[in-house]
Amino acid sequence: MTTRMINFGGNVTIDPDSLCRVVSESEVLAALQANPGKRFRAIGSLHAWSEAAVTDGVLIEMSGLNSVSISEDRKSAWVGGGCKVKRLLQELAKEGLTLPSVGLIDEQTVAGATATGTHGSGNHCLSHFIEAVRVAHFDQDGNAILSTIDSGKELLAVRCSLGLLGVIVAIKFTIRPQYNIQEHAARYETLADVIAMESTCPLQQFYMIPWSWSFFGHHRVETEQPRSKLAGLYRLYNFCVVDVSLHLVVILFTRILKVSAALRFFYRWILPLTIARNWKVVDDSHAMLVMEHELFRHIEIEVFVPGSKVQQATDLLADVVRVFAGESQFQSADTSELLQSVDQQETLQGLAGRYFHHYPICYRRVLSDETMLSSGAPSDTVAADEDWYAISFISYQKPSDREGFFAFANFIAPLVSQLFDGRCHWGKYNPLRREENQAAYRDFEAFGEIRKAFDPEGCFGNHWFDEVT
Ligand SMILES: Cc1cc2nc3c(=O)[nH]c(=O)nc-3n(C[C@H](O)[C@H](O)[C@H](O)COP(=O)(O)OP(=O)(O)OC[C@H]3O[C@@H](n4cnc5c(N)ncnc54)[C@H](O)[C@@H]3O)c2cc1C
Repeated sequence: MTTRMINFGGNVTIDPDSLCRVVSESEVLAALQANPGKRFRAIGSLHAWSEAAVTDGVLIEMSGLNSVSISEDRKSAWVGGGCKVKRLLQELAKEGLTLPSVGLIDEQTVAGATATGTHGSGNHCLSHFIEAVRVAHFDQDGNAILSTIDSGKELLAVRCSLGLLGVIVAIKFTIRPQYNIQEHAARYETLADVIAMESTCPLQQFYMIPWSWSFFGHHRVETEQPRSKLAGLYRLYNFCVVDVSLHLVVILFTRILKVSAALRFFYRWILPLTIARNWKVVDDSHAMLVMEHELFRHIEIEVFVPGSKVQQATDLLADVVRVFAGESQFQSADTSELLQSVDQQETLQGLAGRYFHHYPICYRRVLSDETMLSSGAPSDTVAADEDWYAISFISYQKPSDREGFFAFANFIAPLVSQLFDGRCHWGKYNPLRREENQAAYRDFEAFGEIRKAFDPEGCFGNHWFDEVT
């Protein structure tokens, strides 16, 4: 039986040769053993926008493996690979516990989220907090086996494995007691001013607002204070104003009316009026960190740059956004020289007017990870303790109307790689090639060696990974 599947973003279609829905470790092993010579991909919630989950071989659907088992000392939990982050957080909350790090949504599975280095802000990627992994793979004789990896270079590799070491059936996470976060929003004229707020609000994320080029910070700090009386009202405000109304306005102007001038006006004059500034609210971390960002279909590219280069990268990327929208003047004195240094100035001029970027550009700080390939993994060219900044560009264009977005994303990704030692999120649209990935991760080759030991015949790859790893 063939089963076509489409990802959240509507940009990736998977036509597997066969689909196996598994509910136990032994069924995963049986699925591998029963299909000699085939290629395999396991899937979670299909929220990745990259081609990471694609296969024309055997697709293994993991939602049946969703157990949660908390250790007696309450410091770790074994979780089935197909368990959604949301369910894990709910099970932990019943015991007054939580995860040390979460992303903006909780719809992903734990294996899917960690396989691509999913992260939030002001913390490590979730992959960093993995203590052990049970993975189904092949031995040198082609037998399907289960291995538990809990130390050494193999652990660093399997924490963010891109699914290339085998099917992840269970993960042991470090967990922690639940905690509260205090949040407030404020507006800034410069990147330096909003970044300075990290000293008091280390969990903050912030946005560069296109066409006003000012910044809004969602300042967040862990606190001992109790949940605010108005926390419920704050959630309702966030849901109605940010999660729903902002997106309806963006969709109206981008997809239906297609009037970029109206969006410029909206970002300059209307959006600032809707932000509840300096309203300090305390709520539990899950409620504060997770948004309803999956309500409307969209596509995203997220680039990572080291902290020492975030200002330069911001200046350049803002100029690229302007030129793609049809403006001819660079605002930053460095843009021309930087583009010329990689021979891209003329290319950019040729792309002028191809794409109007229509959504706030989100920034999140990712601490350096103890992994090989996650967003905060070590690099040969970046100091070991340097933080990374994730800069994300989201498009709400219809899937059939995304050529401009792809042209923009295909232009900025190599630029960020070459000019700023950057990298792209593995689970978002990611056009980087093997050489760029090789340059981005210190342990790229070491990961390849470990992959060979776990998957001697290359059964867990796909055509995309053949090109980019
Ligand atoms: C609305 C939205 C918001 C998002 N927010 C964030 C965010 O805040 N931060 C962030 O970093 N990312 C974010 N992402 C990206 C998302 O976290 C990643 O794409 C993640 O990989 C999706 O998890 P999934 O369970 O849907 O995995 P899938 O998309 O199903 O799979 C992703 C990869 O994991 C592999 N995989 C899945 N399960 C297994 C398994 N059991 N064994 C081996 N390999 C496996 C797949 O083969 C594939 O390579 C967001 C995505 C969306 C759509």
